[in-house]
Amino acid sequence: MAAETYDLVIIGSGPGGYVAAVRAAQLGLKTVCIEKSPRLGGVCLNVGCIPSKALLDSSEYYHLAQDHFAEHGIKTGRLSLDLAKLMQRKDKVVSDLTDSVRNLLKGNKVEIIHGQASLLGNQQVKVVADEGKSSTILGKSILLATGSHPLEVPGMSFDGERIVSSTEALNFDTVPKQLGIVGGGYIGLELGSVWMRLGAKVTVIEMLPKIATTLDGQVGRALDRILKKQGLEVLLNTRVVEAKPTAKKVKVSLEKDGQQTSKTFDRLLVAVGRKPLTQGLNLEEVGIEIDAKSGHIIVGPNYETNVKGVFAIGDLTYGPMLAHKASAEGIAAVEGIAGLAGEVNYDTIPSVIYTWPEVASVGLTEEAVKEKGVPYCVGSYPFSGTGRARCMGEKEGFVKLIAHGKTDRILGVHIIGPRAADMIAECVLALEFGASSEDIARTVHGHPTFAEALQEAAMAVRKCSIYAS
Ligand code: FAD
Ligand code: NAD
Repeated sequence: MAAETYDLVIIGSGPGGYVAAVRAAQLGLKTVCIEKSPRLGGVCLNVGCIPSKALLDSSEYYHLAQDHFAEHGIKTGRLSLDLAKLMQRKDKVVSDLTDSVRNLLKGNKVEIIHGQASLLGNQQVKVVADEGKSSTILGKSILLATGSHPLEVPGMSFDGERIVSSTEALNFDTVPKQLGIVGGGYIGLELGSVWMRLGAKVTVIEMLPKIATTLDGQVGRALDRILKKQGLEVLLNTRVVEAKPTAKKVKVSLEKDGQQTSKTFDRLLVAVGRKPLTQGLNLEEVGIEIDAKSGHIIVGPNYETNVKGVFAIGDLTYGPMLAHKASAEGIAAVEGIAGLAGEVNYDTIPSVIYTWPEVASVGLTEEAVKEKGVPYCVGSYPFSGTGRARCMGEKEGFVKLIAHGKTDRILGVHIIGPRAADMIAECVLALEFGASSEDIARTVHGHPTFAEALQEAAMAVRKCSIYAS
């Protein structure tokens, strides 16, 4: 029987793959999406963005009920935590969303095949289903969107119980008394916040001199201070030499400035980055070029690999490993395949760390602007100066806006504060439109809102903030 032929075969149903599939179907391409897991949605929906945010939201409610309701005059009596219920809620959020992705694909007439896919060359894709049944399909174009997996470090191999990756740390059945976390990046700080709020003593071990290394320095220092005030222990410039699990604990040998110490935890989360997931795709055999050091698939500006007709997007390729970057690339790649002019502006991809307060950024940091030798002005404004933040009892954080010293064009915005994740959207749009700080300063912002802090920061660039003293 002749192999079924599709205009587009997509491998992977994460935010890169499923969004690309919908866009392809909209453009009239006969599309199939192959996913090895029984659930659609990739890392993002199943073991990434969504479950982590569900836990962050639940744990924040717990923390508020415990530590902040009283100041609002709300008496809660004796508070207790039902961790199983909290996890069930998270699982329900995930399953509802993965079901929605299935409906979305079906609604757009995208065919879904469950199985492990690999390339055979000549635009052929082999799919092996769970039961071992194998089939071959043909794609006029093939889009690789298989994402990434956690980096494993020698001396701290995952055992799924004591030494774990983020996947297991989203699913602990008890609150660890002592949780060690290797890596003070996105995952370390977000999941560290979750378990700290739920009662764990959390220690973050970071080999560099600061946490969240990609942040604007001033914002990073503020985050470090605030998280420590919340109870997070942070060990900087510290290297884990070895981690040894025992039946109930894990003993971790540390090294700082040549001095060795050790610490014992109930669990150790290793979150030191992620690596493109290319295993099993048969890339070498079909001649697809990969960066030997980082494992990324190398693509051209239209996301095509060195093998004609085979494209790659998302965590598989260079750039930030973020869901919205994967989706934007999925759309752009498919539009290119369909003969349109899809493109992604990598200078305006926002990033958010969902601690509380949240941290959100877009554009250049002050350090990057300095290094480029660009003349610049900074305007900043604290959230404590806004009525909305005062009403909510939010006293921490600020907005920092960096504008070109001569043209006033906005170069970067960095926010640490309540709802920064949502506020950054306005700044992304401003950068996309090449706005000046004066554009934001003269835009009327609703009152009382957190966004007024952005307007004041923009005014502060030209030293005309109304409320700054
Ligand atoms: P993935 O989402 O990894 O999807 C790839 C899919 O391909 C998977 O479903 C996989 O099963 C499938 N697959 C792999 N190999 C094969 C094969 N051979 N055959 C068939 N199918 C295959 N990003 C954000 O923007 N915001 C966040 O808040 C955020 N939080 C995160 C929290 C955690 C704990 C983690 C781990 C990540 C988080 N991320 C976040 C990152 C985000 O999840 C990824 O950047 C995003 O999922 C990448 O999308 P993707 O489509 O490239 O790949
Ligand atoms: P990360 O790159 O954010 O942070 C890793 C940290 O580990 C870095 O600070 C690094 O210096 C440190 N590190 C590396 N090796 C170390 C070692 N041996 N000992 C001690 N520290 C070490 O990586 P992550 O936290 O694992 O997250 C992976 C990716 O997932 C992120 O880069 C991000 O793209 C994505 N993610 C995004 C979000 C979000 O958007 N809110 C949330 C979670 C994850």
